[in-house]
Amino acid sequence: MKTLKIAIQKSGRLNEKSVEILKNCGLSFENYKSSLISTVTNFPLEILFLRDDDIPEYVQDGIADLGIVGENVIVEAGAEVTYLQKLGFGKCTLKIAIPNESRITEIAQLEGKAIATSYPVILDKYLKENHVNADIRTISGSVEIGPGLGLSDAICDIVSTGGTLKSNGLKPFSEVMKSEAVLIGSKGSELLPEVQELLQRILSVLRAKE
Ligand code: ATP
Ligand code: ZN
Repeated sequence: MKTLKIAIQKSGRLNEKSVEILKNCGLSFENYKSSLISTVTNFPLEILFLRDDDIPEYVQDGIADLGIVGENVIVEAGAEVTYLQKLGFGKCTLKIAIPNESRITEIAQLEGKAIATSYPVILDKYLKENHVNADIRTISGSVEIGPGLGLSDAICDIVSTGGTLKSNGLKPFSEVMKSEAVLIGSKGSELLPEVQELLQRILSVLRAKE
């Protein structure tokens, strides 16, 4: 039997639920915070603990057969992977937000404006679809402070409760993409019997939750 590898987030918003779903599939493994790889003792599977940003590429390149990661990260990476199953956690929305006092009311008014984001690929696609030319400023984090500092006219970032926007004097303006955690596989991995077995177990776990 082939030993599969599945990549999950090492720490962060998706870690706990990713571990939980695998445990609920009946998989036994040790989950030390310090280890980067863990061997499942009752299924031919190894778990790789990675930064979420690295997961799409690992799966695309076949270093991991499977991965659990947010759709936003997959699309941003432009990774060629197979979507196997939505997992129902890690839900969030990528939104464009503008300062409370901004007079922008329609997307066309973003023309020529500077938009700060950590998601330049997704934002670029969205702006093109809406026939808007804007100046995308890529920042790796804390994009919400951009408008206050005069760095940008708007931002495009993940919003869940809107609390961070509010405390930075911003309001949501338009929805760019909805996202949740998904199970992905390398191209062709869905043909492996071990992958099918694991997928069936995951489906049962998800169904039991409904
Ligand atoms: P890493 O250290 O692995 O790079 P990170 O800081 O990039 O972690 P997290 O903040 O842990 O990432 O978020 C992981 C994923 O959780 C996001 O890519 C997104 O899909 C999802 N998510 C759900 N809710 C939120 C939220 N409120 N803010 C940010 N991400 C969220
Ligand atoms: Zn990350």
